[in-house]
Amino acid sequence: MATRSDIAVTPLPLAARQSQRPSSHHDGSPPTSFRNPWPSSQPIGLAKIISTRFLRSADKNNVPVPTDRKGLVTVRKPNWGMNSPDNLKATWIGHASFLVETQCLPGRARGLRILLDPVFSERTSPSQWFGPKRYTPTPCAVDELPDVDIITISHNHYDHCDSWTILEVWRASKARNRTPLIACALGNRAFFTNLLPDLATEDIIELDWWDGVQIDIKDIGSMELICTPAQHTSARGPNDKDKSLWCSWIIREAKTEGRSPKSLFFAGDTGYRHVNSAKPTDEEEDSMPHCPAFKEIGDTYGPFDLALLPIGLYSPRDFMSSVHCAPEDSVCIHQDIKSKKSIGMHYGTVRGGISAYYEDVLEPPARWKAEGEKKGLKWGEDIGLCDVGETVVV
Ligand SMILES: [Zn+2]
Repeated sequence: MATRSDIAVTPLPLAARQSQRPSSHHDGSPPTSFRNPWPSSQPIGLAKIISTRFLRSADKNNVPVPTDRKGLVTVRKPNWGMNSPDNLKATWIGHASFLVETQCLPGRARGLRILLDPVFSERTSPSQWFGPKRYTPTPCAVDELPDVDIITISHNHYDHCDSWTILEVWRASKARNRTPLIACALGNRAFFTNLLPDLATEDIIELDWWDGVQIDIKDIGSMELICTPAQHTSARGPNDKDKSLWCSWIIREAKTEGRSPKSLFFAGDTGYRHVNSAKPTDEEEDSMPHCPAFKEIGDTYGPFDLALLPIGLYSPRDFMSSVHCAPEDSVCIHQDIKSKKSIGMHYGTVRGGISAYYEDVLEPPARWKAEGEKKGLKWGEDIGLCDVGETVVV
């Protein structure tokens, strides 16, 4: 891999259990498109998309977002955890956007900063004239972000990969004489080279599932970044369905004398099992095959000190379950990956194109808490939530 004077990127050997694996999520060699290679994922046809959006009515639950914000996520001004230099930190920017900072090493000014799926736009859509509109503001402007070392994107959907935000972060970084690395999954490189004409080959890392790199940044520190599976899909328009890969990410601090390195799992956007009913019974949920990738992630790289897991935009279940977790699924992922603490995300910020007609925005956090407690997890310790702008410290 190309190396910059300030950053060295070194491929990691494949984890032992993955090294003999055929690339069953690839279509073609080299791949021209991708798929979820598990029975826990079922394709949704165009007829189902149209009927779910426009025709079904019996199970629609069109509850408006509370105009007085009662029960909605609190937004606070971020301080990025600056008073906790000896911890791994994650600050929620809303939806699936986080700024993660690793522990600050002795003699350094700060830890490594990774900006995950940053979205600051008003709408998660190809245009700012239409499409899902955010109902919870961002906690700060792009220019108020601290210096960023790495931008990671989990997949190319508009609520995770926002051209305007990436351009703004890039512009703000360049104004401070910094060039962040961009990390994405296979098939996403062309999007970034088109978006950022001055993006150099060594500024972008494109990885397949289970690939990882060690990143050493001069005068700041080192970490490992590993691209891991998710059960999802991709597209930005009508002609690019599944032509780029989707992923989750693992961030592992490097081993340093006198410090125990921490690790973080970011699920991106993912489903866990497919169910056939809009409102499935517990028996139906339990009988459907689970996505095996999360147990593999837990067995290979767990336990994790912190996991950021999606808990919203799952209704109606028969339509969304293959690609979006319900809170009950996310509690299973918390256990599969061996997370010590999981924070819910992907809720409370913007309504999805379909879920807006079926899901009360107050439901995901309540179900996340209820399911965790049903499984014996301690609320606020094992699993929990945070405010937009709040920093979770582990
Ligand atoms: Zn998505």
